[in-house]
Amino acid sequence: MENTSWDTIIIGGGTAGLSAALMLGRARRRTLVIDSGTPRNRFAGHMHGVLGHDGISPAEFIARGRAEVAQYGVEVVSGEVSRVDTGEASVTVTYDRGASTTARSVIIATGLVDELPDVAGLTERWGKGVLHCPYCHGWEVRDGRLGVLLTSPLALHQAELVRQWSPTETVFTGLIGGIDKAAAHRLRARGVEIVDERVVEVFGESGSVSGVRLESGTKVSLDALFVGSTPRPIDSFVAHLGLSRTDSAVGSFLTTDAMGTTSHRRIFAAGNVVDPRATVPMAMGAAAGVGAAVNAILVQEDTEAATFWEERYAGSERVWSGHPNSTMVDVVSDLNPGTALDLGCGEGADTVWLAQNGWDATGLDISPTAIARATTATSSLGIDRARFVLADLSTWRSDQVFDLVTTSFLHSPVALDRIAALRQAAERVAVGGHLLIVSHAAPPPGSGGAHHHADMFVAPADEVRMLALDPARWEAVLTETRQRTTTTDVWHEDGVILLRRLS
Ligand SMILES: Cc1cc2nc3c(=O)[nH]c(=O)nc-3n(C[C@H](O)[C@H](O)[C@H](O)COP(=O)(O)OP(=O)(O)OC[C@H]3O[C@@H](n4cnc5c(N)ncnc54)[C@H](O)[C@@H]3O)c2cc1C
Repeated sequence: MENTSWDTIIIGGGTAGLSAALMLGRARRRTLVIDSGTPRNRFAGHMHGVLGHDGISPAEFIARGRAEVAQYGVEVVSGEVSRVDTGEASVTVTYDRGASTTARSVIIATGLVDELPDVAGLTERWGKGVLHCPYCHGWEVRDGRLGVLLTSPLALHQAELVRQWSPTETVFTGLIGGIDKAAAHRLRARGVEIVDERVVEVFGESGSVSGVRLESGTKVSLDALFVGSTPRPIDSFVAHLGLSRTDSAVGSFLTTDAMGTTSHRRIFAAGNVVDPRATVPMAMGAAAGVGAAVNAILVQEDTEAATFWEERYAGSERVWSGHPNSTMVDVVSDLNPGTALDLGCGEGADTVWLAQNGWDATGLDISPTAIARATTATSSLGIDRARFVLADLSTWRSDQVFDLVTTSFLHSPVALDRIAALRQAAERVAVGGHLLIVSHAAPPPGSGGAHHHADMFVAPADEVRMLALDPARWEAVLTETRQRTTTTDVWHEDGVILLRRLS
């Protein structure tokens, strides 16, 4: 996975995460799921209320989901995410022992932890004889002797609800110090028994519940006990980002809009991490919607980038001088010709120069007008070793490798994860081949940086560090700045990075 950049990283591969992954994989998005393997319902032997999957085990459900997303190229890795950091056009996710990877977007689908009351024998029966939701497990204990252990006044709702599954119900109010008269009246009106004494133990054979013991030692026989947990969303890895939260009586959760977007436009969330009431089908549905929303937002971004560059070229007769970049020429003149890929080739001057100097050259650009001009220039010069490909660097994929991958001034005022694009470029370099990056290291003198965006100028050494290529596989041949004078006599400071692939 080293150096790979993704369209979306999904943190959490439970119901919500895999559901979003299915949508994104089928939308041909490069999707990575990082999952620590502890879905909330893992304590239960069977899952109910899920159309088409009623009664299967949670583990079987996740295994099926993983197999389904794998068919669409989604990668699922085991790991625990510890931190998410945001950049202008990307999000970096750190997991396990400091490994990190970047994406254009992130979906948080980490679910929640059920905090349970401190009563002997309760935790080990969670998901078996101790139940959280009558819709999920009420049918299986219908007409039995059902208990409800109140953990907060909010759980009164659950106490009234459970009566739907059995006429024999006992509500234990001791943990919250009793309930008011009106609430007690409503329950008694439906034949529900109320016990105000504190429950101190839950007992029963291997995971099941056969009763509870009260503070006085009295035992009350039961077939199942319903307990409302305190939901704690798993989102500490974004705490430092200060994303907006919504506080309610249930807890504090990340705020999301109808598309699942948090207050950061590249971070989304779905499932129990933002909606503690969501059962499996609800989490699945919400996350499918979020998956589609993420794809729609990326499509919008891709379209904006293509439109910007196409307007840039189509808006004038010719944008560039037609001369190759002299820094590129200087560096490449020392290399033995082979196959070359020129990323962001514009009107093709560098690609044409490469072809004229013995290289089998391919130029790639996002603008149809630029590609058309490059192709026309090539045929009018009678060059047959240059070809041009129309593609967006954010989404372009290829298995082909080249002896030289070069890119000059790959700076974009519209969303482009430059480092991700350069890492993709590095993956296309053959063993023994070179990656050449020529960039603006500083604004032209006198420009005061006008018309340039802030993170455009990066010192070559800093960029090498940001690329974080494996030093065992890459050797730095050049990491320097060079001055270049243009045809209009303005000098520029170019950053030059030439890396050789060792293995
Ligand atoms: C005991 C019990 C039984 C239930 N039974 C049913 C039922 O029968 N039917 C039903 O519809 N609903 C049931 N539910 C509810 C169901 O569990 C939730 O609806 C569902 O799990 C929500 O899915 P999710 O994807 O949001 O969270 P989860 O399914 O909990 O998935 C979250 C995933 O994120 C991973 N994760 C967490 N933190 C990190 C991190 N930092 N890095 C990487 N990965 C991380 C976890 O390992 C987990 O795999 C039950 C709940 C409980 C507690």
